[in-house]
Amino acid sequence: MKKIDVTEIEQVVEDNNKIVVTSHGAPDGDSIGSALALYHYLKGLGKDVSVVIPDDAPRFLHWIPGYDEINIHLNDTKHCEELMADAEVLFCLDFNALSRLFRLTPSAEASKAIKICIDHHQEPNSFPDHLLSEPGKSSTAEMIFEFICLLDGESVITKEIGTCIYTGILTDTGSFKFSSTSSDTHRVAASLIALGVNIAEIDDNIFGTAKKETVQLLGYCLSEKMVVHEEFQTAFMSLTQEEMVRFKFEKGDTEGFVNYGLTIEGVRFVAFFMEVRGIVKVSLRSIGDFNTNEFARAHFNGGGHKNASGGMSKLSIEETIEKFESLLPQYKDQLNK
Ligand code: 5GP
Ligand code: MN
Repeated sequence: MKKIDVTEIEQVVEDNNKIVVTSHGAPDGDSIGSALALYHYLKGLGKDVSVVIPDDAPRFLHWIPGYDEINIHLNDTKHCEELMADAEVLFCLDFNALSRLFRLTPSAEASKAIKICIDHHQEPNSFPDHLLSEPGKSSTAEMIFEFICLLDGESVITKEIGTCIYTGILTDTGSFKFSSTSSDTHRVAASLIALGVNIAEIDDNIFGTAKKETVQLLGYCLSEKMVVHEEFQTAFMSLTQEEMVRFKFEKGDTEGFVNYGLTIEGVRFVAFFMEVRGIVKVSLRSIGDFNTNEFARAHFNGGGHKNASGGMSKLSIEETIEKFESLLPQYKDQLNK
């Protein structure tokens, strides 16, 4: 594994034709946005490029230009595995451990393609041949903007590419709010707006298309399921399968719910627990110094960033909550800093 060298990458792209762009399972705006931005760029160069991802993205991301051209392993397993096997170059975006490809992991491991990883999560694994890792960056999409500019200059960024990049930045920064949002992030957004990217339309596509039941589910979570532990400046919410069925849950519906706890004065650490296919998905967020990435790695087999991370638990949802609450006292000093 070596740090990325733009001249070398230029050569890799020039010398090879069959390229696959992949990103993590349980897709989000940044994984889809950065993958499709790079896809459009490479297609513009005339490359034989495909996007292959483990599973479908939530509905509120299906409008992104090029989404229909994505190959989804869960729906089209054989074709995706053929694409992976035939690839000469494999771009791995917005993740840094192959296990995050879920059932696509073995084909990525077996692939002989030159692996190039571009990512902003902490503590990258050593699987890629070339690594561009910038944990300080707001999003992989911001990195893709800079990467394309380094290779070819800003003039090659079309409105289509810009729309994908803006989507990644908007969703991964919580609408330009999280601490990873830098002056560079805003400069990239400014360039995209200058290119004609329609930011109001993107915002509405993402945040203005919820089902009535989803808004009601949020209300239910906030009024019935929120637990606050003032002594630890911590809040959490949880959802069982039964509750999700009651509110016609579809993948992605609870996106952003976890953040609401942080709007309570004094709360600096929040968790959200949700039953998903026999396990409990854990989402963690914090404001300030509390490191949710370390917490997720230590206790929930996960990871992510300092202020936003996730993981899973094989215990029941009740036991997972008990475990979470029993851990809080040992973090009391860090939580009350
Ligand atoms: P979310 O809570 O929205 O699912 O995830 C928040 C952040 O944590 C994302 O940046 C995501 O990449 C990371 N993350 C979520 N789940 C996992 C996981 O199971 N393992 C690792 N390593 N990171 C995760
Ligand atoms: Mn990301």
